[in-house]
Amino acid sequence: MPNKRGRDSANKAEQNRGINAEWHKAHKMPKNPTITQRVAWHTEHAKHCACREMTPKIREMIATHIAASKPRRACAPKKPARR
Ligand SMILES: [Zn+2]
Repeated sequence: MPNKRGRDSANKAEQNRGINAEWHKAHKMPKNPTITQRVAWHTEHAKHCACREMTPKIREMIATHIAASKPRRACAPKKPARR
């Protein structure tokens, strides 16, 4: 094994636990993000980048947000179709 590890692999994204630097460049978090923005950011971030895990707090925030934004099935009145 002539190659010491380092130089070859350090070139790529391996050095930072799989951070997707390009994604981060393109998706910066706004300075004062709304919950909607944060939820959207973290949801997308989890899909595209693995530099950090979602904290339980963020998961909770997302779950709460999704629950709040979904209309309730039972009480949603059906509008009659237009004619
Ligand atoms: Zn990341």
